[in-house]
Amino acid sequence: MARYTGPVCKLCRREGEKLFLKGARCLSPKCAVERRTYPPGQHGREAQFKRGRGSDYALQLREKQKARRIYGVLERQFRRYFREALRRPGLTGSNLLSLLESRLDNIVYRLGWADSRAHARQMVTHGHITVNGRRTNIPSYQVRPGDVIGIREGSRKRTYFKELPAYIADRPPAPEWLELDLASMTGTVLRVPERRDIDMPLNEQLIVEYYSR
Ligand code: SF4
Repeated sequence: MARYTGPVCKLCRREGEKLFLKGARCLSPKCAVERRTYPPGQHGREAQFKRGRGSDYALQLREKQKARRIYGVLERQFRRYFREALRRPGLTGSNLLSLLESRLDNIVYRLGWADSRAHARQMVTHGHITVNGRRTNIPSYQVRPGDVIGIREGSRKRTYFKELPAYIADRPPAPEWLELDLASMTGTVLRVPERRDIDMPLNEQLIVEYYSR
């Protein structure tokens, strides 16, 4: 599946907030949102002063774009997630976030094995990650409760993976619905992620409204 390959800090500046797309840099003073507080583009500085509440449509659109950018999903695939969320019982917005959160690249990121979701995606596509012992190189793979995520045997010899426990110590802890075993360097999916488990500043209701127009 295709992915966005342009400058990522621009995406945060467009949304006017940190989306944490670049790992450690996002926490440093080099963060573009802190250095340039106006939207990107030729008229960015002028737009800064015009930034108001916006129309309902604008709010819905921005929220949808924000979610897409956080999870690194393009429009067509995002729309597919929405259709699947609509089909499932329960609240569509919560279902949508749960589907996004259950992507394999997100799990790798949540386990602290990668600095950002983009880094996690690369680890998956490069074949370093296994699901239930089988190499899986599809970032959008939907994990299920009981699945065990691991690092491929051949990849464990690499310096990055040897030093991974030290990196993990500096990253946010794995969420409640995942169990990280540092000794075997595996992660187990304990249950389906629920809305309360997702700490992202997203208003999923606005996304539902956007697609329900
Ligand atoms: Fe966004 Fe991170 Fe770039 Fe800051 S450094 S603008 S949070 S991607």
